[in-house]
Amino acid sequence: MNIVDIVSSTENYNLHSHTQFCDGRDSMEEIALAARNAGMEYWAFTPHSPVPVESSCNMRMSRMDEYLAECSRLKSLHSDVMHVFASQEIDYLGDFWGPHVDYFQKLPIDFRLGSVHFVPNQDGVLIDCDGRFERFSGYLKDGFGNDLRYVVEKYFEQVLNMLERGGLDLLGHFDKIAGNASMSDPDIENQEWYESLVDDVINHAVSSGVVIEINTKAFADKSRFYPAERWWGKLFDAGAVLAVDSDAHYAGKVVSGRMEAYDRLRKFS
Ligand SMILES: [Zn+2]
Ligand SMILES: [Zn+2]
Repeated sequence: MNIVDIVSSTENYNLHSHTQFCDGRDSMEEIALAARNAGMEYWAFTPHSPVPVESSCNMRMSRMDEYLAECSRLKSLHSDVMHVFASQEIDYLGDFWGPHVDYFQKLPIDFRLGSVHFVPNQDGVLIDCDGRFERFSGYLKDGFGNDLRYVVEKYFEQVLNMLERGGLDLLGHFDKIAGNASMSDPDIENQEWYESLVDDVINHAVSSGVVIEINTKAFADKSRFYPAERWWGKLFDAGAVLAVDSDAHYAGKVVSGRMEAYDRLRKFS
């Protein structure tokens, strides 16, 4: 079953999660059991993909076989009630690395989730803009010359380039940069230039047939989804296919924010 059919037929799925293979806190076995107990019919593992830059959050290429073997084992173990998918949250870094490259196209996984976490600065140095605000504000000052608009525009440019290069089935948290950027400038999402970047991403994703994720990971702590709720009307108007994902890093959070997202989504349908 492809992911469009899954998200169109049930709410009991999650296509984005992390485990001990990257920066998740629990084992694949523990997460799968928690997902099963939460009534999930479809569950995907999406470790942060290997990247050719230094990053402690990303899985090592040398562990890929071990990861895929554990996916196969859990697929069989839960096949009576839950489909387990092997996937990757593939970092788009530029033309040279993303869901479109041969390595990921040839990998025996069930679908590809593409996300942007790294943003190239004015010198082309890739900087991880995900994670805590304290770290982000240090990078903004020292890495990007305090040019917040540059970071935000470059982030969206990376998202658009990833969609242009293709090879992904699911677009992860497409406005994630807004979490940190809005803490630097609370007005940033009200800017016309910002909104037009969001429009570009939505139009590109819809025209290329990519499923757009609504990421619920931060909802419990920050009351915000990625993409932000303010853009959901645009998603519906554009006819986007949406997937609600917890991006869980802990067994206790496999369905965190899921019910809240679906309650809000029902207002649009
Ligand atoms: Zn991510
Ligand atoms: Zn993730």
